[in-house]
Amino acid sequence: MAPYDYLIVGGGMTADAAAQGIREVDANGRIGLLSAEPHPPYNRPPLSKALWKGEPEASIWRKTEATGATLQLGRRVVGVDPAARTVTDDRGTIHGYKKLLLATGGTPRRLPLKSEQVIYFRTYEDYRRLRGLAEAPLRFAVIGGGFIGSEVAAALRMQQRDVTMLVPEAGPGARVFPADLAAFLVDYYRQKGVTMRMREGMAGLERRAGSCVVRTTVGSELVAEVLVAGLGILPGVELAEQAGLRVDNGIVVDEACRTSQSDIYAAGDVANFENRALGTRLRVEHEDNANTMGRTAGLNMAGRSTPYRHLPFFYSDLFELGYEAVGDVDARLETVADWKEKFREGVVYYLKDERVRGVLLWNTWGQVDHARALIAEPGPFTPNDVKGRLPA
Ligand SMILES: Cc1cc2nc3c(=O)[nH]c(=O)nc-3n(C[C@H](O)[C@H](O)[C@H](O)COP(=O)(O)OP(=O)(O)OC[C@H]3O[C@@H](n4cnc5c(N)ncnc54)[C@H](O)[C@@H]3O)c2cc1C
Repeated sequence: MAPYDYLIVGGGMTADAAAQGIREVDANGRIGLLSAEPHPPYNRPPLSKALWKGEPEASIWRKTEATGATLQLGRRVVGVDPAARTVTDDRGTIHGYKKLLLATGGTPRRLPLKSEQVIYFRTYEDYRRLRGLAEAPLRFAVIGGGFIGSEVAAALRMQQRDVTMLVPEAGPGARVFPADLAAFLVDYYRQKGVTMRMREGMAGLERRAGSCVVRTTVGSELVAEVLVAGLGILPGVELAEQAGLRVDNGIVVDEACRTSQSDIYAAGDVANFENRALGTRLRVEHEDNANTMGRTAGLNMAGRSTPYRHLPFFYSDLFELGYEAVGDVDARLETVADWKEKFREGVVYYLKDERVRGVLLWNTWGQVDHARALIAEPGPFTPNDVKGRLPA
């Protein structure tokens, strides 16, 4: 068969955004999409939020088919041959391409126990399984206090389930939020009925009498029928490595989203790109980046010359609280909080070298572009200068 003009490996939000981007430029080129998942591309963020609040499942699908792309689902690509311009899938089928996009995202870090009772919350299938389990009054343990763990704990608790969070840090989101905000969240989650075991990590894991038993770093145990592991992801770089592309915390790309091979592109969670606003390379695991970078890669694959200079934002919901964050929101930076109502509504600025590096918009909406503009300002800024720069 003739090679695809554009071949996309991956079936996530980046893959869909790229197919849409290609179609903006090239109405007729043949697009192929190979995804290991059995479903066409869908939005992942609702899996841990909106679907638990009554949003219909039908709302998640991205309508990639409307681009005319040939979707081949349930097919994992196992090899890329850049010289022959082909990829091989797990059924041994060889697919030719003129331009290739690696949108392989990431896979969750695993726990040292293979069990049906452990859920890595990444896919629609994972959502369906957890949703089914949450029908029964089982004990749920969420391992990890990152944003997936925090959202899933809230979602399960909203179904009146018995939920314990085991978090090695001082609180949920402690790597992002200032210490007093993370401490507030511990109390907030407790008030909502979640058992919060902070500064307690996992030291071992076994099955006992039908339950999972986590041995913890403080010499204690946590027993649950279902474990949700929120330990972060590892970027899916295997194909890139095998193809000899440059890999360094993700697949290294230039401003055009091109890898070290000029007809192979990468975007989304898997891609490591230079960000001008922060003056550093980034690999971002968030929706805005998947959508914007995926589209940019698609435009460029189809012949445009659009640099990816976007500073992505991310967002999350924690029961009734919600936030948007832009730039480098690292709790180790100097933080300046400007609360309208303490811990309920306000803005936190993250400063380094007299510049604003990141902004957390806590229950504060419509300010993402202003936050980006502030991060782009050269400064110098003192903590007093930044207070009030964005309406809290
Ligand atoms: C539950 C959940 C909630 C989230 N909530 C938010 C949020 O509130 N806000 C936010 O900003 N971000 C959120 N995110 C993050 C956001 O969804 C991700 O950044 C985004 O999905 C990344 O898209 P991607 O396409 O780059 O990668 P992925 O979504 O990981 O998709 C990669 C795709 O490639 C496929 N694949 C991998 N390897 C191969 C191969 N060899 N062959 C074929 N196919 C392959 C995979 O099966 C998958 O379909 C959330 C993520 C999850 C899981």
